[in-house]
Amino acid sequence: MNIEGAHEELFRKATQRLDELEKLPAHNANKNLFEALESKGFSRRDFMKWSGMMTTALALPATFAPLTARAAEVANRLPVVWLHMAECTGCSESLLRSDAPSIDSLIFDYISLEYHETVMAASGWQAEHNLDSAIEKYAGEYILLVEGGIPKGSSEFYLTIGGHGRTGAEEARIASKHAKAIFAIGTCSSFGGIQAAYPNPTNAVPLSQITNRNVINVPGCPPSEKNIVGNVLHFILFGSLPTLDAYNRPTWAYGLRIHDLCERRGRFDAGQFVEHFGDENAQKGYCLYKVGCKGPYTFNNCSKLRFNQHTSWPIQAGHGCIGCSEPNFWDTMNPFEEPIGNKLFTTSFNGMGADKTADTIGAVVLGAAAVGIAAHAIISSTKEAK
Ligand code: SF4
Ligand code: SF4
Repeated sequence: MNIEGAHEELFRKATQRLDELEKLPAHNANKNLFEALESKGFSRRDFMKWSGMMTTALALPATFAPLTARAAEVANRLPVVWLHMAECTGCSESLLRSDAPSIDSLIFDYISLEYHETVMAASGWQAEHNLDSAIEKYAGEYILLVEGGIPKGSSEFYLTIGGHGRTGAEEARIASKHAKAIFAIGTCSSFGGIQAAYPNPTNAVPLSQITNRNVINVPGCPPSEKNIVGNVLHFILFGSLPTLDAYNRPTWAYGLRIHDLCERRGRFDAGQFVEHFGDENAQKGYCLYKVGCKGPYTFNNCSKLRFNQHTSWPIQAGHGCIGCSEPNFWDTMNPFEEPIGNKLFTTSFNGMGADKTADTIGAVVLGAAAVGIAAHAIISSTKEAK
């Protein structure tokens, strides 16, 4: 089948799925997506524009935009359970910031969120009861999103939650068992995060080491709101898991390196670098590699989607990427304001630093970065979801 034929088939299947979902009862019939959008000053046109942007982000043809809009409209047909483990809640905050809600955060508010400790009124025994009821009532139907690293084994008790004193690992295992699809939201849940940084005193591990179910990782510290909402929309549209890389990250979001789409890439190739924060080269917008940018080793779409309603992202603001969507980045990407090439060269080339080569010619730095890039590319080769 040629590519057009494959798209037509995909379009037909997604339409059929949305038709079926539309027939299901809405879980939160009291909420109206368009009223919520209007009350925050978003027009129908803004919503369609947003749908077009999400369609592009999901690597779908532009003709799918009306389907993406429909997927958002039926998002209240699928129950969602969101669990918190050992973390800072920054991933939830990425979606829930209330001073200027985005269309993404309004859609998140509109989905059938059956359980989310940060936003629900219940606590203690009542909260635990709500979780058990949601799992029982929607067994096999709900989408599970988990935020935070999880202490494992003899350290499980470090994370003890709720009236019955269950451990986080226990809750995650129970909720995973009955979920339709499972997403690890943020680097803590995807790879362990800061809790798992050396010496990892609580033996924190990613969700994928707690359950034997397939877990889709949506890393980032925090991930952009579009990567969170996009994954839910993708599941609503197709009812199946997306194509994943070797770290179980959806390739539509994590298929390219930060370096590939960076607005400072031309400076890198020309050997024009910021030497110190605040220097003249920083004012000129030169490449941040020599002040520690980890963009060449980091797979994510920050430069495309940006943060805070698409206004900016770290490199635009003048700080290098810290590699927060990569496994163990707290240990492997530090020091955050020094080039990783120094590490690679110290071990591989008897102490010859990347700074020195950068002084000589940008192309040599490209070679230095390629050491890490090539190693990363090998382990990040794509694979199909099970
Ligand atoms: S991934 Fe980062 S932002 Fe999200 S909970 Fe962990 S530490 Fe916080
Ligand atoms: S090293 Fe960083 S700042 Fe420089 S081009 Fe690559 S991603 Fe951009």
